[in-house]
Amino acid sequence: MRAAVLKARGRFEIEPRVSRSRSLANRSETSLLFSGICGSDLHEFVAGPLMAPMPSVLGHEFCAEVVEVGADVRGFEIGDRTVGVIYPSCGRCEFCKRGDFTLCDMRELAVGERNGSFAQFIARPRGRCSWFRHRHPLRKPR
Ligand SMILES: [Zn+2]
Ligand SMILES: [Zn+2]
Repeated sequence: MRAAVLKARGRFEIEPRVSRSRSLANRSETSLLFSGICGSDLHEFVAGPLMAPMPSVLGHEFCAEVVEVGADVRGFEIGDRTVGVIYPSCGRCEFCKRGDFTLCDMRELAVGERNGSFAQFIARPRGRCSWFRHRHPLRKPR
């Protein structure tokens, strides 16, 4: 697959990246439909590296279609459209317990190691994470 990789401050390059998870058992693979550009992505581009190392595949606000479902994954089927939190969280720390998944220490470790949504495919993290299925009709922009 291809991804927009932030190589240096102010410079994205489109390049090949490995897409498939090594083990699909408790993950699922999705194909990107849309990705938003968050203010944090913009800050990394303009003034980074701040939170993400370089090079990184940024992006965490997205809509994607499920193309593969791991054997241990429940609640998702191929063809479902999904939105969710792109980085895994532990589900056990104080942040996770009160619903602040984006502050989990595990997430910090994952930034830079995982592809964000500026990529053709996104892997749903294994374990506990907030991903939602939606079945609203998709209207493509003209
Ligand atoms: Zn954001
Ligand atoms: Zn946590």
